[in-house]
Amino acid sequence: MADNFAYAGIDIGGTNIKYGLVDPKGRIIHKEQRPTMVEKGAEPLMHLVTNIAESLLFQAAEEELEVRWLGVGTPGAVDSNSGVVVGPSPNIGGWQGMKIREILQDRINMPVYVDNDVNCVGLAESRFGAAVGYPSAVCLAIGTGIGGAILFDGKLWRGATHTAGEIGHVVIDPEGPKCGCGNNGCLEAICSSSAILTRTRKKLKGGLTTVFADVLDGDIENLNVKKLFAAVRKGDEVAREVINETAELLGIGLAGVVNLLNPHIVVIGGGIADGGGGFIEAVTAEIRKRAFDTAVESLRIAKAALGNDAGFIGAGILGDDK
Ligand SMILES: [Zn+2]
Repeated sequence: MADNFAYAGIDIGGTNIKYGLVDPKGRIIHKEQRPTMVEKGAEPLMHLVTNIAESLLFQAAEEELEVRWLGVGTPGAVDSNSGVVVGPSPNIGGWQGMKIREILQDRINMPVYVDNDVNCVGLAESRFGAAVGYPSAVCLAIGTGIGGAILFDGKLWRGATHTAGEIGHVVIDPEGPKCGCGNNGCLEAICSSSAILTRTRKKLKGGLTTVFADVLDGDIENLNVKKLFAAVRKGDEVAREVINETAELLGIGLAGVVNLLNPHIVVIGGGIADGGGGFIEAVTAEIRKRAFDTAVESLRIAKAALGNDAGFIGAGILGDDK
């Protein structure tokens, strides 16, 4: 690989598009982000992505970097062979059917690889992050929703029809809250950051506890994942209850995944994983309690290492996964 080789990746998120250039060792050379502005619609978003692709390649040229392909991660199921979004993306109206690869290739005249955003995160963690050196890995991204990726020998398992890894839609409580997918009680409907905050608000309906009143400046509108974990660290019992419930239910879902796949490592990313407060440890304990001893014997459960950059880094290296 030439000294000046660089990966170029774009990560289309519901709120921001993150993109950058990465060297062969996974070090970020350049990164930027812009608001996705989903409200403008699918076509304008594709124009914006095209625009970003061109400016990223121009940036590479300016820095005399050699880029051989462009990678793009996007919400929704993606046919990685054709680079077409084949599943719905609830946050981006009209995105299903978008021929990302064809449109970009026509424009930038180089190979373009497209995959699901969490698959990109998994690929990045497996190559440069928490899952380096593990022959098999399951990666979870917990945010507004819950996404997953499955890797064997550093390569993504995409499934028969591009949908593998949808851990967020494993049902753990058939009587549970309605999920965006139409089912009830999916892991995502109970353990995503939005679901956790909804549950916290419900528990605080009768009034804020002393700790929450302090952490939220007296206003429940200020509640977010960081503040919830701040309340846990200050010993708030309601916050502790929410986190314990979440860890237990996530552990139940993951114990099933661990029994099914017997992975070498499970990587958990997102604001909840970063919050501390013993969350990862509680999830780990629950998995160990419920999964087969032989399945957890050498299982490692770790926090994601690359944070918000994982998406565009993983998109950039998609060409290596072919
Ligand atoms: Zn669901």
